[in-house]
Amino acid sequence: MPLYEYRCSSCGVFEKLQKASDEPLKVCPTCNREVEKLVSRDIGIAFKGPGFYKTDYSAIKDRARSINKERQKDNEAILDKDVKSYVKQSDETTRKIQEA
Ligand SMILES: [Zn+2]
Repeated sequence: MPLYEYRCSSCGVFEKLQKASDEPLKVCPTCNREVEKLVSRDIGIAFKGPGFYKTDYSAIKDRARSINKERQKDNEAILDKDVKSYVKQSDETTRKIQEA
C-alpha cells in the first residue's frame, strides 16, 4: 500500500497509508481543515522505520535459518536412506552373483 503525505495548515505534515485506488484526503482527519497532498512515497510499511526493519529482518533470518536446518535434516535423511539402500542393493547383487 502506498504511503501518502499530506500537509495540514494546522497539524503540519502527516502520513496516511491508502490504497492507490482510494480518493486522496481533502480534509485533515484531526482538525477537518483542508489539506494539501504531497508527493507520495511508494514504500512498504515493513520497511518504515529502523525498528520495523530490524524486527522484520531478524524474523526473516530466523525463518531462513530454521528452513535451512530442516533442509539439512532432509538431506541427511535422504543421504542416509540412499546409502542404506545402496548398501542393501549392493549386498543383494553380491548374493545373486554368489548364488548364480
Ligand atoms: Zn489538521
